[in-house]
Amino acid sequence: MGRPTMDELASQVHGAVITPGDGAYDEARRVYNGMIDRKPAAVVHCANAGDVLATVAFARESGLDLAVRGGSHSVPGYGTCEGGVVADLSGMRGVRVDPAGRTARVEGGATLADLDAATHAFGLAVTGGVISTTGVGGLTLGGGFGHLARGLGLTCDNLLSADVVTADGRLLVASADEHPDLFWALRGGGGNFGAVTSFEYRLSPLSQVHVGLFFHELEHTEAVLRHYREYIATAPEQLGAFPAFQIAPPLPFIPENRHGDTFILEVLCWSGPLEQGEQAIQPFRDAAPVAFEFAGTMPYPALQGMFDALLPPGLQHYWKAAFATELTDAAIAAHAVHGPKVPTVNATCHIYPINGACHRVSPDATAFSYRDANFATVIAGMWPDPADNAANTAWVREYYAALAPESLPGGYVNFMGADDQGRVTDNYRDNYARLVEAKRAYDPGNLFHLNHNIQP
Ligand code: FAD
Repeated sequence: MGRPTMDELASQVHGAVITPGDGAYDEARRVYNGMIDRKPAAVVHCANAGDVLATVAFARESGLDLAVRGGSHSVPGYGTCEGGVVADLSGMRGVRVDPAGRTARVEGGATLADLDAATHAFGLAVTGGVISTTGVGGLTLGGGFGHLARGLGLTCDNLLSADVVTADGRLLVASADEHPDLFWALRGGGGNFGAVTSFEYRLSPLSQVHVGLFFHELEHTEAVLRHYREYIATAPEQLGAFPAFQIAPPLPFIPENRHGDTFILEVLCWSGPLEQGEQAIQPFRDAAPVAFEFAGTMPYPALQGMFDALLPPGLQHYWKAAFATELTDAAIAAHAVHGPKVPTVNATCHIYPINGACHRVSPDATAFSYRDANFATVIAGMWPDPADNAANTAWVREYYAALAPESLPGGYVNFMGADDQGRVTDNYRDNYARLVEAKRAYDPGNLFHLNHNIQP
């Protein structure tokens, strides 16, 4: 038997197979990071698990590279490839909530907006990231954290099971009871082990949150960061909080003559009893003067979509990431030098807290090993104009280099660039050997290699 043809693939799948020359090709090959300009041989708009099975088999049998795309947010552009085949799951976005059992079954190409909207209807939620256009696929497989992580743990800590198309063409259920080695590896190990056609999550009661956005003048940077590191160590777990360097967008509570100025912003989210919301965020007002603020109660999905407008698809992205156990004085000094140089309103540096419930999972219980890290820092370079690529990439690199002596060797795979492939063993520490075992068991030929790759 020869290699399968594109026509054969097209006859096997229900969704469209888009190839160079098709009118829809340029749209279909595009990913979220505008810096990525690859030309796959085909983009398959998978309509169901059968289409994913056929696409994976096609890539295996034709010897072409395979990219799996969920929400397409991967900064290194792992949701596409040059000359290979893309299994694009972005048409598979269904969410079925079981309100009585407090679970949700979510298709592999859903976004956080799809997930949050469906669960919110029942007063339920799971940890997500902070931008609603992000895919649940990549986010969950790398770990997943956002406003709710201190109380509910990582997104992957709330994963109950996954349906996975493996390299050899099987559709497996991975859970605590079925293929537990695969289930372990999926929770932090990224897209290395197969294409996940659906995720099943445990949900928790949550409807409204009390939100604070506090913009402080840059002269208060050190006071803000010192207070943050001390307060967040023992703060109630229903408090999500992260500092960010941020150029002021044209928000109604910021006077027009300050739009475009740089601030240190604190983003606060209280998910406990609403009557305690003001009391929960007050310590951040007391620690350093607030120049401008918004505070109020809103539905959780409204917070999740609040920053989307700053980050339209097509921006240039270059990011770096580091974990830290301590936010040391030297790290704070480095932030005070580099944070204020944030180049555009789209770019930022966030210092997320990953203590609380994230620490109650043992480091070897899932592939995500940094259960002792208190902070996950991302230096997220994002800007519209490719002419600024050299300067803005340099900002990210210099900022990262200044923090590196105060950081742990590994970082969060979901925040890393393509030039961080050399850090993969550091990202998984003692869990790396077990990930290699799982890779050998489920993908010995490394068909799923467009990710922070675990080499079989
Ligand atoms: P894709 O580019 O589609 O995929 C990313 C990787 O996951 C690829 O290797 C892909 O093959 C694999 N993958 C995706 N779906 C599947 C699937 N169904 N089966 C198998 N493999 C799959 N992360 C956080 O934890 N918290 C945040 O708050 C956060 N905010 C972000 C904001 C922005 C603007 C961006 C760009 C990223 C953010 N991230 C955040 C990082 C995000 O988690 C990663 O970029 C993640 O990989 C995105 O997943 P995706 O499905 O959208 O991306």
